[in-house]
Amino acid sequence: MEKGTIYEGLVRRGVSRRDFLKFCATTAAVLGLSSSYVPKIAEAMEKKEKPVVVWLHFQDCTGCSESVLRATKPTIGQIVLDVVSLEYHETIMAAAGHQAEKSLHDAIKKYKGKYLVVVEGAIPTKDGGLYCCIGGRAAVDILKEVAKDAAAIIAIGTCATYGGIPAAKPNPTGAVGVRDIIKDKPVINLPGCPLNVENFTATVVYFLTFGKLPKTDNLGRPLFAHGILIHDNCERRGHFDTGEFAKSWGDKGHRLGWCLYELGCKGPFAYHNCPTIRWNDGTSWPVMAGHPCVACSEPKFWDANAPFYAGLQNKDSFFAKASKIGLGAMAVAGLTKKENKE
Ligand code: SF4
Ligand code: SF4
Repeated sequence: MEKGTIYEGLVRRGVSRRDFLKFCATTAAVLGLSSSYVPKIAEAMEKKEKPVVVWLHFQDCTGCSESVLRATKPTIGQIVLDVVSLEYHETIMAAAGHQAEKSLHDAIKKYKGKYLVVVEGAIPTKDGGLYCCIGGRAAVDILKEVAKDAAAIIAIGTCATYGGIPAAKPNPTGAVGVRDIIKDKPVINLPGCPLNVENFTATVVYFLTFGKLPKTDNLGRPLFAHGILIHDNCERRGHFDTGEFAKSWGDKGHRLGWCLYELGCKGPFAYHNCPTIRWNDGTSWPVMAGHPCVACSEPKFWDANAPFYAGLQNKDSFFAKASKIGLGAMAVAGLTKKENKE
């Protein structure tokens, strides 16, 4: 991997000063920082060495790597070569077998105490962890070994964060998230199924700029990405407040962009910045595209929120959380639904 600062790497790849500053400004915005922080971020990217990253894959679908591969600001090539110095990533590294294992061990030895560990996928713990082995070793043992000398750990996606789909009932492999195993290192959780690459890049840039991980909530999620309910930033919120609900796929309300709560939307329970940063370079997000939020960034979402397309099945818990959502809006939602007829 090329060494040097992030900025030097970006310049080598033809990124203009203007685009570099645009990237710094976009990242500051994702982090919820004012524009006065842009020079500080730019300075860190210009002066500090690229953070060394070791990326571990366990029980996963590789969807989070796919999400990162779709990154456009910067592109994956720039992320791999410039924003981070990726020393080990099973899916995209050229090495295989013993050579790959050697590069992992060389990296954790050479960068002892300095490298970031990215974990994608849940970790099975039942029967000694034998349900996920790499190079003949259990994932749980590899994680403990690699985490031991890490500077910090970033658990990406809902599987690495809480166990995700591998941990869904009956959880046959005893799958858990990173924080269930690693207790003596800073671990930040970036849940989502998959994670949004903007939040990953922003976390790495924050670490580089401030030398620590961003502030988190009690689930270990960064507040910049998980501090506000989806429901509070949703462009359909006005329709929720006035009792305008889509009731079936393709009906008048659905076509007019009315609230998806009765089609199963879990936005009132989900803390994520999807409505503000969106996906695919800010193009759209599920609710904008007409699909209810399934609260993929919340613990046990697969068990707790199914069936995904049934409205009001969580009515009791929804009303219990009414104080957070707004009692007036709840009353409107429950009592004064508008007609949704052709
Ligand atoms: S229930 Fe869903 S669609 Fe309706 S306003 Fe809330 S987040 Fe948006
Ligand atoms: S809109 Fe909801 S289900 Fe979709 S990615 Fe965001 S949190 Fe997950």
